[in-house]
Amino acid sequence: MNQEKLLLIPGPTPIHPRILNALSQPTVSHVSSVHVSELKEALENLKNIVFCQKGEPFIVAGAGTLAMEMALLNSVAEGERVLILSQGFFGQRMNKIAQSFGLDSDLLQSEEGKAVEPEVLRDRISQKNYTAVVATHVDTATGICAPIDEYALIINECESFFIVDGVCATGGIEERMDDWGIDIVLTAAQKCFGVPPGLAVLVVSERVMNKRKSLKAIPAYYADLLNWLPVMKDPSKYFSTPCVNEVRAFNESTKIILEEGMENRFGRHRRMAQIIRKELLDLGFFFVPEDRYLADTLSVVRYPEGIEDGIFRKTFAENGVIVAGGIGHLAGKVFRMGHMGNLTFSQVYFALDALRRALASIGYTWESKSNIRTTESDFQKIRHKKGEG
Ligand code: PMP
Repeated sequence: MNQEKLLLIPGPTPIHPRILNALSQPTVSHVSSVHVSELKEALENLKNIVFCQKGEPFIVAGAGTLAMEMALLNSVAEGERVLILSQGFFGQRMNKIAQSFGLDSDLLQSEEGKAVEPEVLRDRISQKNYTAVVATHVDTATGICAPIDEYALIINECESFFIVDGVCATGGIEERMDDWGIDIVLTAAQKCFGVPPGLAVLVVSERVMNKRKSLKAIPAYYADLLNWLPVMKDPSKYFSTPCVNEVRAFNESTKIILEEGMENRFGRHRRMAQIIRKELLDLGFFFVPEDRYLADTLSVVRYPEGIEDGIFRKTFAENGVIVAGGIGHLAGKVFRMGHMGNLTFSQVYFALDALRRALASIGYTWESKSNIRTTESDFQKIRHKKGEG
């Protein structure tokens, strides 16, 4: 048991007591009225979280990677073309998935520290027709947040579907499916929803549902949305046994999210990210993404000279906070700190205090760039300067 440690990896995220309580309830039958009403409520709430009125929501046992597969398999047929915008590891994963299904995929890889520039996307789709364009909202390997709303404006000028991998963003950073014209938001339970891993989650536009219906057979069974659709409409129907306890926990998380209010939730994520970054900069760390691409849900942090990755993370953990190492080409060069889900400000301040203690105990000295510790009132000053409400 790791109870006393604060889990600040970029997912799974700390579990809210209400969600833990939901998980501790007895398992009920997957065709019982209790499960039916919980799944129905979770599906309805999910649509509100991504600002979608008409689309079809899906919650199935699995993980984010299954949701990625489901999104592609149900919208793009073999031989059709898909454009993948990548700012890191998970964009590249989407490309591998597309290739493994025999799709004709083009990968647009961003420059280091950046997302793909909207103008590069515009240029590409003016040259070729794509059935779908896929973008990772926040790539969890690089911490780079893509300008999804700007991409949407460009993609909406053509017929392509727009698929957003929101695994590290949905429920923490704005994604307005209807207003922006997003066709699929795919995500998972373990990040901004703050539920243990175990669910693949999607909301799918009418356009994509119609396309799926027009494709007679697809090379999928469990991942076929048409097999799940009757269950999502009436959860007393059976297709494959749903994880009832996990659905109950997910439903609780959607209630927590909507009670907080979407704008408040986005604002809290923004504030926490700013507080954490200000402190890290003050301590001499810096970030993989350029300023305008920094994500509100996690920070991918480069070490100042003299700090060794393994020793740092071990010492941080001994001081009460678990963060993740880098992946791909960033392994050993960065640490990744999640700040998403139902994290509280007191947990953030605890983590920053632990960070200073950990650095002191490995003998790292720093010259503070400001004498002021980051506080909520400092943050208010930052926001006022930026003209935010
Ligand atoms: N996309 C992104 C942006 C992710 O961060 C992750 C997981 N870290 C995935 C997809 C894959 O999700 P999972 O690990 O749940 O399969």
